[in-house]
Amino acid sequence: MIKIEKEEIECDIAVVGAGGAALMAARTTLDIDPRIKVVLINKDNGPIRSHTGAAQGGVAAVLDTSKGDSIEEHIFDTVKGGDYLGNQDAIRVLCENAPRVVGKLGDWGANFSRTENGEIAQRAFGGHSFNRTCYAQDKTGHVMLQALYEQALKMGIEIYSEWYVVSLIVKDNICHGVVAYDLNEGKLKVIHAKAVILATGGHGRAFFITSNAYASTGDGAAMAYRVGMPLGDMGLMQFHPTGLYKKGVLVTEAARGEGGWLLNALGERFMARYAPAKMELAPRDVVSRGIQREILEGRGCGPNKDHVLLSIVHLGEKEIAKKLPQIREITKDLAGIDPVFEPIPIQPTAHYSMGGVLVDLNDMVVGTKGAFAIGECKYPAEQGANRLGSNSLLQLLVDGEIVGKSVAEYVKNSQLHPIPGDVLESIENDVNAILNCSGPERVADIKLILQKTMSAYCGIFRNKRELELALGIIRELKQRFCHIKISDKTATFNMALVKALETRNLLTISEVMAADALAREESRGSHYRTDFPERDDDKWLKHTIARLGKDGKPEFSYKPVVILEHKPQARTY
Ligand SMILES: Cc1cc2nc3c(=O)[nH]c(=O)nc-3n(C[C@H](O)[C@H](O)[C@H](O)COP(=O)(O)OP(=O)(O)OC[C@H]3O[C@@H](n4cnc5c(N)ncnc54)[C@H](O)[C@@H]3O)c2cc1C
Repeated sequence: MIKIEKEEIECDIAVVGAGGAALMAARTTLDIDPRIKVVLINKDNGPIRSHTGAAQGGVAAVLDTSKGDSIEEHIFDTVKGGDYLGNQDAIRVLCENAPRVVGKLGDWGANFSRTENGEIAQRAFGGHSFNRTCYAQDKTGHVMLQALYEQALKMGIEIYSEWYVVSLIVKDNICHGVVAYDLNEGKLKVIHAKAVILATGGHGRAFFITSNAYASTGDGAAMAYRVGMPLGDMGLMQFHPTGLYKKGVLVTEAARGEGGWLLNALGERFMARYAPAKMELAPRDVVSRGIQREILEGRGCGPNKDHVLLSIVHLGEKEIAKKLPQIREITKDLAGIDPVFEPIPIQPTAHYSMGGVLVDLNDMVVGTKGAFAIGECKYPAEQGANRLGSNSLLQLLVDGEIVGKSVAEYVKNSQLHPIPGDVLESIENDVNAILNCSGPERVADIKLILQKTMSAYCGIFRNKRELELALGIIRELKQRFCHIKISDKTATFNMALVKALETRNLLTISEVMAADALAREESRGSHYRTDFPERDDDKWLKHTIARLGKDGKPEFSYKPVVILEHKPQARTY
């Protein structure tokens, strides 16, 4: 039995997560009022292990207007990149704040690559009309995270690592904090807070081939959904064109930004067929579909014709060492290939979760007091149906600032309410019910079948028959999950329990994803339905909102897209 510790941790703000979004939020809050008590809780063994550290290519911001770039151009590229599903008020906030937040990070010591004049260097990225992606070689996330973590240390922010948050404490639409499983002590700890910020990252691990960290299991979105919070546009999943073949590990878009080519088995730069103007630098949805079509039409490489090649050989060893050293390391270590001499075998990989917890413009969760969501776990209305590369690191910086301000204001005018005892009891019972499971099913089997199902039937190309099949399998897996076996019954460091809780979250999220994708009978951005190949603005220029229904299945409602100056047009590249 894993028991709830009687003594609570009291604070103003509990942030679930310690990645880029969480750290930026915590720092901003303390800038506003250093007396606010913020704690960060993360399931990894420290902020540096969060997935933000794996970001490679860069962070978008208009810094140089001498060649015609402007905030308005950044806004338009983002609107068009997202296939007109992005809320244009949110996109404006994102792009207008970009130069300032990137500058701030530079001031905090983020070691960006520089031009000969000492300016922050910027590279080309898919779907951006100008070179506006600021980078630190191909380790941008790592460098940003170091700077943010230093700020957290400097401010003395309390960070609880290897604490797995199992549930939000919500009653009558008020959030009172969270319950976390402290792996080291083997206890459930209550973090009693005036406000909770979810910053738990994405859910790419629902797929078999993915670029995401093992920790990207959608815990925040799943726990929000379970307590009745709404999720937005969950059917939208971005597939990055260049995952390492069979592994899914990312080969950054910067490889194409620096001039890399995509080649099929005939040696053709096949993107000429799909995006003649932008070629390899079309947005990710367009390039991923291009690759997949080459494979489906028999022009893939290798004996199974199941991948294509990314060549950076022509960039030369010096340029690769300067700008893409990590890519060389990754391909040498994981594929046994040196990209200085040979092209890299690649295939699209599940990458970015475009659905998540529905928030307002202040990042407050719609319908629940005291709950906020930021970063990849929130529904990023600014990314639309296809996020442009380098707009996500930007989003976590901007989100961190926005939420920092709104949450500081929120806690100033609120107090700690007593925690309803029945809620804690039911959370404790839920965790122990899973711990005590002694059925015949293995969690690892359920997770593997789920991931293979999502990759096969809820991937780049979708249709009614396959999505229904996926939904059927997911619901069957949910049933099987009721009969799992947890062999390890110990309270401390019970990773079998953590894996089971994560798998349950992936099942929850995947059901909503497949149901949402099935409902959206059109093609838009990353969501491509072979049975509805056209974008349908008359019926589908709207966001899908999912809530947990009484029968345990998602219930959908809709919300209009905020369209301002950019009316929907045909999207060609
Ligand atoms: C390989 C890769 C490369 C990328 N490259 C780029 C790029 O170049 N440019 C760009 O703009 N974007 C890039 N992205 C996307 C971007 O990095 C992410 O969207 C972003 O970093 C997410 O940040 P976050 O703070 O929201 O979450 P994360 O950094 O994923 O952090 C999540 C945090 O939540 C914690 N957590 C999760 N669940 C729980 C729980 N149950 N209990 C306690 N803690 C929990 C984790 O421990 C972690 O601390 C890339 C993504 C990947 C996967």
